[in-house]
Amino acid sequence: MSSILTGNLGYPRIGESREWKKALEAFWSSAIDEPELQRRMKELRLRHLKVQQDKGIDLIPVGDFTLYDQVLDTAAMFGIVPKRFAYAGGPVPLSVYFAMARGSEGAPACEMTKWFNTNYHYIVPELGEATPALTENKPLIAYREAKAELGIEGRPVLIGLYTFLTLAKCPAGQLDDYIARLLPLYAQIVTELEREGVQWLQIDEPALVCSIGKDDMRRIAFIYDKLHEAAPGLRIMLQTYFDALEHYEETVSLPVQGIGLDLVRGWERTMRQLAEHGFPEDKALGAGLIDGRNIWAADLKAKLVQLEGVARYVAPQRLIVQPSCSLLHVPVTVRRETKLDAGMREALAFADEKLDELVLLAKAASGERSERVDSRLEASAQAVRRLQTSPWRVKSGVREAALHIGQQPAERSAPFAKRRQVQQRKWQLPFLPTTTIGSFPQTAEVRQARSRWRSGDWTDAQYEAFVQERIREWIGIQEQLGLDVLVHGEFERTDMVEYFGEKLGGFLFTQNGWVQSYGSRCVRPPIIVGDVEFISPMTVKESVYAQSLTEKPVKGMLTGPVTILNWSFVRDDLPREQVAYQIALALRQEVKALEEAGIGMIQVDEPALREGLPLKRQDWARELEWAVRAFRLTTSTVAPETQIHTHMCYCEFHDIIDAIRALDADVISIETSRSHGELLHSFEEHTYDQGIGLGVYDIHSPRVPPVEEMVRIIERSLAVLDPELFWVNPDCGLKTRGTRETIASLRHMVEAAKLVREKQSGPAKP
Ligand code: GLN
Ligand code: ZN
Repeated sequence: MSSILTGNLGYPRIGESREWKKALEAFWSSAIDEPELQRRMKELRLRHLKVQQDKGIDLIPVGDFTLYDQVLDTAAMFGIVPKRFAYAGGPVPLSVYFAMARGSEGAPACEMTKWFNTNYHYIVPELGEATPALTENKPLIAYREAKAELGIEGRPVLIGLYTFLTLAKCPAGQLDDYIARLLPLYAQIVTELEREGVQWLQIDEPALVCSIGKDDMRRIAFIYDKLHEAAPGLRIMLQTYFDALEHYEETVSLPVQGIGLDLVRGWERTMRQLAEHGFPEDKALGAGLIDGRNIWAADLKAKLVQLEGVARYVAPQRLIVQPSCSLLHVPVTVRRETKLDAGMREALAFADEKLDELVLLAKAASGERSERVDSRLEASAQAVRRLQTSPWRVKSGVREAALHIGQQPAERSAPFAKRRQVQQRKWQLPFLPTTTIGSFPQTAEVRQARSRWRSGDWTDAQYEAFVQERIREWIGIQEQLGLDVLVHGEFERTDMVEYFGEKLGGFLFTQNGWVQSYGSRCVRPPIIVGDVEFISPMTVKESVYAQSLTEKPVKGMLTGPVTILNWSFVRDDLPREQVAYQIALALRQEVKALEEAGIGMIQVDEPALREGLPLKRQDWARELEWAVRAFRLTTSTVAPETQIHTHMCYCEFHDIIDAIRALDADVISIETSRSHGELLHSFEEHTYDQGIGLGVYDIHSPRVPPVEEMVRIIERSLAVLDPELFWVNPDCGLKTRGTRETIASLRHMVEAAKLVREKQSGPAKP
């Protein structure tokens, strides 16, 4: 093959040592001023461009860097700022920009939500109140900077109009209106880029892989016709990712010069589409072969074979080797993982290593088969093979058990109606029982204790004594408040996934494997590298201690298999379903251990059940089926009188209500306050007939809601749900809240439940 180009779609902005986060937080706390923030940010931005330049990437993205979030940038570029931020037009000042992201005195922040099915959160643009105008041409500014400072002929990145509108809050029925308003602004951007002599523009339209209808495809065609008219000489790479195109033929015939495809998540579907319809001769194909959402080093020999498969449909000079999506979703570099052993390190590839893979792959595919290239290809294949056979990977018996159990039914020994009777007899809970979701405030004191212990300053015994002290304190507080079902408070946990990952076999943790979650918040997802196994009880000690302090029931508290899976980087040599079953089997042993230790209520949290779902609706049923099975494998072996709780905090859950029902939990608590009307409405249509608690107050705010407000929420819920099955609880865990407001809010909540009990004078449960 002749020379194949490499392209990148986006580089992590956080910096090797999270310099980006540190600069932002320093600015927010007034430790540095705006010029200093801008100086540091520019330095980082250029450094990241330089890395890509030095590695030899041909098409380097510019304009993917941001001071907070790329969707917020796009909204700001179009002056889409809600009225409450008192914005007066022109380039959006930094103070307004950050106020939209984080709120300010008197103006609550814009909502944030997940970027497709990733764990990155973007700021949701509010179209309703804005009069869009082009306040500045951000892609052009980024292009000029890269060229002037580093001589880089960059490929500016722009979020496509269609995707932008699907991500925004668009008033119902006004989609075409907003297309009409924003399209001239997009046209102006591309015209100016063309005039500047820009070679390639990357327009991200990941929404093209979602289940969209023909109507929307017509809108997209309209948009790209107009952009082509506005800048006929500009080459547009219409970039998609996270799955295969939904409407292949229509999309590849749009008047653009390149189509970027995700050949990791969309591999099979795309290959079928290519085989069936071919690929237009006049377009470039961005071949997203290097996984931008996972951290495993690629077997480049295998990737080369894949690339040759794609090259059957596209001439080599029209191929661009790319990551499957922006590298925003992976950490910066494996070089910083000095504590991992060499075998493990060679199995990983973060952003920088993925860029090396791209370059090598393109070289090899271009026929530059020097000895060096060949030996590196071979080495990559060897490394993957070594991992496959390493003791990390395979734990004897685990894989077989998961394979086998995946076929078995997973059902409680008695149906809900029966369980409810025996549980009522055992627990004697009042009408409208009150409880919380699990965690109590992780105060500075708690965090400090943990870091003392981690640094070796405190012994295990000291730390345990500290945790016990907190548990004792909070059992006392809960009793005083008059809550009916208590929790131990999760003081021993930093993070609900990390805690279990550290105690189960098969997980790996990095030192610096940070990725941006939202704003300056970064997370370090665990890596599921091998078969997951139970080693010893993980939560029994704390739960049993808490239960020993009170006559009231204490719920045991676990993170469910699907959430652990969705919030980790997962091995890619097994189907996710099998990994979920492995986790489920390990957690089942924990459930058993809790039950044997006398814990009679066990909550298995699945806040991420919905968010990992595929982008195409037709794939949901299969995915939900195994997700539900994994939950049931975890929970179904307990005795009928053991009460299984679950908790979810994704409010858009009406569309998976059948799956939630199928979990067959005795009680579910759901975050509701952010979309109260919506969720209640869905219960009007199909009521839920197992135990259920709809969160009666928002835990994301320090505000202490008045009793009457919670009374109203409870009463509205009781109008559509069976009062006999209703529980009263906050929206989610309380770990991010302060102690005072937590106690005050819970006091109001218990009071509200009492008032409604009296008003309804409902029968006390037998
Ligand atoms: N039990 C967890 C807690 O209370 C649940 C957290 C969550 O749903 N994200 O913190
Ligand atoms: Zn929650």
